Amino acid sequence: MSVKVKKIGVMCSGGDSPGMNACIRAVVRTSLYYGYEVFGIMRGYAGLIEDDIVKMESRSVANIIQRGGTILKTARCKDFLTKKGRKIAYDNLSKRGINGLVVIGGDGSFRGADAFSSEHDIACIGLPGTIDKDIAGTDFTIGFDTAVNTAVSAIDKIRDTADSHDRLFIIEVMGRDSGYIALHSGIATGAENILIPEKKTSIDEIIDSLQEKERRKKLVNLIVVAEGDEYGGAIGLEKHINERMPQMEVRVCILGHIQRGGTPTCLDRLIASRMGYQAVECLKDGLHNVFVGIQNNSICLTPLKDAGKKKQHISDEWMKIVKILAT
Ligand code: ADP
Repeated sequence: MSVKVKKIGVMCSGGDSPGMNACIRAVVRTSLYYGYEVFGIMRGYAGLIEDDIVKMESRSVANIIQRGGTILKTARCKDFLTKKGRKIAYDNLSKRGINGLVVIGGDGSFRGADAFSSEHDIACIGLPGTIDKDIAGTDFTIGFDTAVNTAVSAIDKIRDTADSHDRLFIIEVMGRDSGYIALHSGIATGAENILIPEKKTSIDEIIDSLQEKERRKKLVNLIVVAEGDEYGGAIGLEKHINERMPQMEVRVCILGHIQRGGTPTCLDRLIASRMGYQAVECLKDGLHNVFVGIQNNSICLTPLKDAGKKKQHISDEWMKIVKILAT
């Protein structure tokens, strides 16, 4: 259905990611530039249902471009999975005359926006805000670059200790279903092995390569593993290695939530600003129910209903690079 947008709401949903604030700022300021009233919805779909909605002005988003997290807060919300919940959300928007909604989040949040716009005359635009980079249709997601750089600087520090003590370190990074943080941070820190959910890894091959390196007296080894890998993250992998190589001193480091926070990198601020601006351009031009991506440095739009249908493809060449460079 076609909607002539009168007022715009902006919200974050799902897990937070660095750069969301820069994105909110871009949506608010572009909306105001075109003369739209703009509202911030607190705590994602939960705030929409609980009527936690605040008017935003240009000053509301001052001094936030450099801050991690999200000033609007974010949440997961079971009630939005129901038609009843979505109807309450719709009533809260329509009593204020808001009929354009920008949702910054992952593919789950996009599915929510798609369900919402198919039931009600609300024009939705999705913006990919997730550290996992697991959305097909965009080369970048807001927060990935910051998360991966946080992982790189942590792994560099761990390498100093691994090197001083000739030890094997297994470092677990975030990614329940997605190996991008592991893959990028592992290559950038010279990891010997990288384990990701998208690719099967043979434990025999890992043991063989560790034994071969032991023979060559290459004792410093870093293995980067995504939390959702088939061996059960770093702890699971440590168990496997201990069983097969009990003489090997193994240390485990789980990076955890430090990867979500912190000052967004220049790249994350930039794509957040471009995407936030583009969301309002779309609403203004009557393009609805799509999410904004960037591919080959150009903006591209994908229907919300296709979000999550495909994953970004990780080619075998990436794994070949890891293998060759780690010898
Ligand atoms: P992400 O957006 O990071 O992938 P989730 O998958 O947790 O995070 O989704 C965020 C929220 O989006 C959920 O808590 C729920 O409120 C809403 N949502 C997800 N899937 C649907 C769906 N199929 N229908 C309606 N709402 C949904």
